[in-house]
Amino acid sequence: MFSSLRRWRRQRILQAHAIPEGLWRDSLEALPFLAMYTDGEIARLRDKVVLFLDAKSIVGARGHVVTPRQRVVIALQACVLVLNLDLAYYDGWESVVVYPDEFVPGWEWEDEAGVVHTNSDPMAGEAMERGPVILSWADVEASQDWEASGMNLAIHEFAHKLDMRNGAANGCPPLPAEMPPHVWKKTMLAAYEHFQKRVDRAERTSIDPYAAESPAEFFAVLSEVFFVEPRLLRHEYLGVYQQFTHFYRQEPAARTQLLLDA
Ligand SMILES: [Zn+2]
Repeated sequence: MFSSLRRWRRQRILQAHAIPEGLWRDSLEALPFLAMYTDGEIARLRDKVVLFLDAKSIVGARGHVVTPRQRVVIALQACVLVLNLDLAYYDGWESVVVYPDEFVPGWEWEDEAGVVHTNSDPMAGEAMERGPVILSWADVEASQDWEASGMNLAIHEFAHKLDMRNGAANGCPPLPAEMPPHVWKKTMLAAYEHFQKRVDRAERTSIDPYAAESPAEFFAVLSEVFFVEPRLLRHEYLGVYQQFTHFYRQEPAARTQLLLDA
């Protein structure tokens, strides 16, 4: 009974909030990395996007007006992470806040001596535990050109959200029952320490050196690479790539291989 009710509700949302074809095509064009997905996957992605937009509000801040295309472009990047996972991974928070460009979060933190500091560094994005995802639209837009920017801000922040599903971000999201956490932790830590050493000796890495910041940032940055330039991750950190294929239930490097062979 429960599942048929859920199915009915899902169907009703999909019909009531269907995305017009032109808007869908325009939004897909903004994200060239999605070209590697099959038509069937893109159709499932479209359903996920509709359900995501029904569940979350995407609101502008500091005068920014979020256009329908911006909503879909942001939702697409959120949903690519959970294409083969339950959308419930994003439960427990409600909104995406979009600034026109970088923002100063203004939150405070207390150091070990009890002194309160205000963060005044401008940021491009932030994912808050049990709170919103905050994005600078200028940086979401810059991310559309991976070759030039080497980043994907939206995927990065939504990866933090998955990580925060079981508490503060630490680079270990809740894993499915068949994935032993100790294997994940050992693989991620070995790769993280290896990457940190490369960054410490000022090596010019193909992966954004920001990944050396913490295990949480390592997970978020490597998730960007996994989805947008998967062959790079497979080449640089095969163990991490394999763990990600199990966690995300996708094998993106195999898709790009198919495209190259075609
Ligand atoms: Zn981050």
